[in-house]
Amino acid sequence: MDSIIITIDGASSTGKSSLAKAIAKHYDFKHIDSGAMYRALTFYAQDHNLLDDHKFDVDTLIDHLPTIDIDFTNADEITLNGKIIEDQVRSMEVSNKVSLVAKEPLFRQFMVAKQRQLGEIGNVVMDGRDIGSVVFPNATIKFFLEASMEVRVNRRYAELIEKGEQVSVKEVQANIAKRDHIDSNRDDSPLIIPENAIVLSNDKEGLTGLFNIATAEIDKHLR
Ligand code: C5P
Repeated sequence: MDSIIITIDGASSTGKSSLAKAIAKHYDFKHIDSGAMYRALTFYAQDHNLLDDHKFDVDTLIDHLPTIDIDFTNADEITLNGKIIEDQVRSMEVSNKVSLVAKEPLFRQFMVAKQRQLGEIGNVVMDGRDIGSVVFPNATIKFFLEASMEVRVNRRYAELIEKGEQVSVKEVQANIAKRDHIDSNRDDSPLIIPENAIVLSNDKEGLTGLFNIATAEIDKHLR
């Protein structure tokens, strides 16, 4: 069997990671959540007082890049310099700033290099915004996931409440709308439907339906 790379792109909270996890589990592939990598860098910047509501010290963060190691455990948990930071990266504090970090071309270069290195092992499902368009334009199969604002807000709100975050539906919706705007309008690697991507809707299908469509497509390539 050839080495397979599956990409799943789409806006925030459309269900990319849930679908990617289900596919990875089914085929025993590695799941790489590229959004978690941008979140890890954002967490680092906040933790080192380089980013808050009043400032973003891009130059110092660039200087720190050679000392920053963002990776995943064997169980696909995000690590920052060897420490698992799954919970920290999902906070609203990180969500509120991550798109500002992710729009800087030097930080994108840093991530894309790491993502390509992680993809080298093959048999990988990677989800994000630019995975099928920029990181792996020659991926085996590309999916693009869509969902209505209502479905996305409900998904994200439920996730945050389950994690014990104090948030309102209004705040969650404002964060998603703001990230959509920044992610879709940035100059470097904006969110687009990659060429040859199969577009799926989470509104119509739900996770099981999406999984069935995606695995039927993937199975064609595995024959
Ligand atoms: O996927 P998730 O919502 O966790 O991603 C967090 C943020 O990281 C996005 O809003 C976007 O700004 C950035 N991102 C990106 N490119 C990717 C993945 C995520 O710019 N491939």
